[in-house]
Amino acid sequence: MPDILSLGECMVEFFAEEPLAEARHVRKAFAGDALNLLAAASRLGSSCGFLSRVGNDPFQPFLLNGWESLGIDTSHVKRVEGRNGIYFISIHGRGEREFTYYRAGSAPSTMTPEDLDPDYIAQARVLHISGITQAISETARATALAAARIANEKYVCVSFDPNFRPALWSAAEARAAAEELLPHVDIALPSGPEESEQLFGLASAAETADYLRGFGAYAVAVKQGDAGVHLSTEDGTQAVPALTVPHVVDTTGAGDAFNGAFLHGLVEYMPAQAAAQLGVVMAGLKVRGRGAIASLPSREEVNRAMRSGRTDTGGGR
Ligand code: ADP
Repeated sequence: MPDILSLGECMVEFFAEEPLAEARHVRKAFAGDALNLLAAASRLGSSCGFLSRVGNDPFQPFLLNGWESLGIDTSHVKRVEGRNGIYFISIHGRGEREFTYYRAGSAPSTMTPEDLDPDYIAQARVLHISGITQAISETARATALAAARIANEKYVCVSFDPNFRPALWSAAEARAAAEELLPHVDIALPSGPEESEQLFGLASAAETADYLRGFGAYAVAVKQGDAGVHLSTEDGTQAVPALTVPHVVDTTGAGDAFNGAFLHGLVEYMPAQAAAQLGVVMAGLKVRGRGAIASLPSREEVNRAMRSGRTDTGGGR
């Protein structure tokens, strides 16, 4: 039975080196914050399970096989009628990335609280919920809350990343959804300063951490891009610096990589600071390559960087 569960949507990704109007070739992959986190934790050796729905379109075997090949348990991904979400990433001008989504009405967004298996959740150590999962539909938001309540009843730790996406909903809606979930949350993994400013009107990482701990979270890690992580627990606060990465290629999924490694560390009984250190190493190695999942480092690369304690991760790849 998996230790780390994550509830959310994984989409099919098509990547083009040029604007979509001109592109003749696209490369297929899959990604989604809930799944990216599991990919990172699984890479480090955690047993992971995905809570979602998958539609019965021609992409279904690609998605299920892909998740399973990452070591992720798909036994509680509900196979349903419908299509899977799709998005395109295309490169414009001097490397700016454009994201184009075909997501509304996707199979995962039809998830309901009845999909949840309390026995499966009860066996886990951590249940992770994303603000994006709350954003994709009213029923997905209800499913997120129901899952957190089950986890609380079964003494399973609840982790939450608000992951605010202005394209999906307003800051006021996202804040209301976050505040409905936060009383059930043990570990909060927000980003700052932009997200915390937009969502909670809080510019500093310390204020954001205090605010989230005020709802009852015992650990808050505020991710701040190349400024690293502000960690706040019952033992106090620590600044965990990011790795120095000379050639940053793609920061997509950096937060998910941090989250996955941080939760893996906690499940392995590491102190929160050591887990956060593992998180910044995982995320720092990830930003050297393209793709949320394709550029995740191997377990050996992470261990080597952790052992050497070095801050320079070398060139891009
Ligand atoms: P999110 O993707 O949730 O917005 P961040 O951008 O804060 O999250 O990135 C998460 C973590 O990834 C950071 O705390 C940091 O450890 C690492 N990271 C992100 N960008 C860089 C970078 N340019 N150089 C080194 N590490 C980075």
